[in-house]
Amino acid sequence: MNQNERKTVVRRMILLIAAACAVMGLFVLRLIFLQLVNGDDFKAQATNTTDYNFTVTAARGDIVDSSGRRIATSTTSYNVVLNKLLMGDRDLDTMLQQIVELLRENGESWNDTLLIGQPDAAGHYEFTDDDTSTSDQKQLADMKDTLGLQQYATADDVMEMLVEKNNLQGFSLEWQRVLAGIHYEMDRQAFSNVNNFVMAENVSAATVATIKEHSLQLPGVEIVETSARSYEQSDIIPAVLGRVGKITAEKWKVTDSDGNVTYPLRDKGYNMNDILGISGLESAYEDELRGKDGVETITRNSDGVIVDTQLTTVPEPGHTVQLTIDSNFQRAVDKALAENIDMINRVYNTGDMKAAAAAAVVIDVKDGGVLAASNYPSFDQNLYATNYSEYSSDPGLPLFNRALQGLYTPGSTFKPAVAVAALDSGLINQYSTVFCNGVYNYFKDYHPKCTRHGHSGNIDVVTAIKWSCNIFFYDVGRRLTSDVYDAYAYKLGLGQRTGVEVSEATGRLTTKNDSNYTASLDVQAAIGQGNTVVTPIQLATYAATLANNGVRYRTHFVKAILDTNTGEVLSETQPEVMDVIEGTGNTFELVREGMKQVPSTISGKISSYPIAIACKTGTPQRSETYAPGKHYLNAMMVAYLPADDPEIAIGISIEYGGYGARAGDLVVDIANAYFAMKDGTLEKQAEEEAAQSQADQQAADTQQSTGTANGTQTTTGTANAAGTAGTSGTAQPTQTEPAAQPAAAETELSAAEPDTEDNPDAIAPETVPQETG
Ligand SMILES: [Zn+2]
Repeated sequence: MNQNERKTVVRRMILLIAAACAVMGLFVLRLIFLQLVNGDDFKAQATNTTDYNFTVTAARGDIVDSSGRRIATSTTSYNVVLNKLLMGDRDLDTMLQQIVELLRENGESWNDTLLIGQPDAAGHYEFTDDDTSTSDQKQLADMKDTLGLQQYATADDVMEMLVEKNNLQGFSLEWQRVLAGIHYEMDRQAFSNVNNFVMAENVSAATVATIKEHSLQLPGVEIVETSARSYEQSDIIPAVLGRVGKITAEKWKVTDSDGNVTYPLRDKGYNMNDILGISGLESAYEDELRGKDGVETITRNSDGVIVDTQLTTVPEPGHTVQLTIDSNFQRAVDKALAENIDMINRVYNTGDMKAAAAAAVVIDVKDGGVLAASNYPSFDQNLYATNYSEYSSDPGLPLFNRALQGLYTPGSTFKPAVAVAALDSGLINQYSTVFCNGVYNYFKDYHPKCTRHGHSGNIDVVTAIKWSCNIFFYDVGRRLTSDVYDAYAYKLGLGQRTGVEVSEATGRLTTKNDSNYTASLDVQAAIGQGNTVVTPIQLATYAATLANNGVRYRTHFVKAILDTNTGEVLSETQPEVMDVIEGTGNTFELVREGMKQVPSTISGKISSYPIAIACKTGTPQRSETYAPGKHYLNAMMVAYLPADDPEIAIGISIEYGGYGARAGDLVVDIANAYFAMKDGTLEKQAEEEAAQSQADQQAADTQQSTGTANGTQTTTGTANAAGTAGTSGTAQPTQTEPAAQPAAAETELSAAEPDTEDNPDAIAPETVPQETG
């Protein structure tokens, strides 16, 4: 190698070393960068953390009245929740025993829907299902299925399987049942690292404190705040408001006729333990009221240490639903209805014939908004869970929404619809008359009657409405045929859904397709008998349509949807025209004139009321008799007022009320309450009454907590009475009824829906009612 060659080698070596240094330098720089700049990330990758997301339930939106007074609201309640992630390797069953003991000490119950009782003395088990409950039967079938048992498996078989599956052999029989129940519940709730288990709901403050005291011994046992429905005005339209409840098994897992299984609620983002609206407005407005759940993220490293807990998505509360109902007015109508039933029973219905059930609906004529929907008897939302068995076995059916679901023969309240049909179709005009001598002799072997109360001879349409002449409507109805007058009645809102947001009965009109149809049925149906049945809310809608000269608005309960935080109106219900009868000539003028003259034919407050009222009474027979040929009667009424510039329309039905005219005083009481609402005196009165009852309550509580004479210890005390309107405090029940109960309530409501209610089909032509009202 010469010198030149050596130089070249050295140069190459230097270059190589320099290159190597440069590469190493880059590595060092990269290392520094990784260590110092991206240190956290690097470490995170190295230690391999995992995020676990948990749902944070959003507060359910309020339901408020037309003035913004809260009816249903959300209160915070506390659940005992097990977080598998945080429990570590503690023995689950030992911990469950500890929690059960703590809950028992505080008088709490825990979630246990296993339909098996405690063992008997011989160690045998029995199922505790209700064999009439489809929900129970489905649950039993699913459970046996899941456990790989045959459908004929006994309770002993099921328990044996549960004990084996959950390794409970070492426990006493009593503990085996308790723990098996909890494990069964854990499976149902899919308890896992990512799915917490709700063990007990709505526990007391004492339980919350006890659990927190024991938190060191009970890792992973947490108190979780949740929003529960509570009612500040639990008496306001409970049957329309509806209920919230747990998701039932059949709503969670839906199997179609082909055997395909879907989870529609899970797909909508619900968890199995969520509370949702199950009936009424709570269900209809579920999407508005529900809100958006938030997410809490727990980060755990590979050693199982929780390194971070964060609210990664803040929950958004549900929207507020504002009703067209004014709660003071609603309460006044409730009161008037109860007082008038009492009056009817005191003054008229002596003996066995007692009025015991009724409904009254008041509608704003200008837009179809419901101002009051009263049922008698009714129920209290706050007592629903406690009194459920009492309510559901009460023969007066307090849970039945008569106002929307009760089907009643309209009787003579139907006559204005026939009058509209006759005038508008051109069959008659204001001068047309029908001769009334008390008996309708058109048919050879069928001679229905008229009382000729206040009228006789040639009767025109106004007089026929005023005095409720049967002969006039028999004849006009026969000539029109039911095809024609039914078409008008439907347009006016009878035998037709009113369009309300919640479930309502459709009712029906008498048609030529009816199996019992004869020509004389057209005559019967023209005075509101035959097969025709309608609901009180249809009667009110019909009265409003007459008042509006044939324009029928959608009847509705919801006024607006509000932002819960800001109160901003997000959407407002606009009056929606459902149907229009144009009304040729003076059709509505004449019908309304007839109705305006009705009060003068009724004794009582309505005949002398300073503001003109238009109304029409009805006295349909019930199918039951109290003596041979003597039928019990319902009292029916449609009304609107003021007669010349209508503001409100009313529909009333009083079972066993006797004559329709007996509802006249109730119309006046409702009118008085309405005007008192308008001028503010109703609100002032309500405030005074609230203050008085609060003072009474406070006095009673003070007496109770200081006095020892009665020996009872009050747990609420004066602090509670000083709370808002006496609705706060520990007595406030939230909704904790078992999942099966709401389902049972729904069944009860729908079962009572159509034909079981007052069904006058049996009325034979020869027992045609003696219409007087
Ligand atoms: Zn007559």
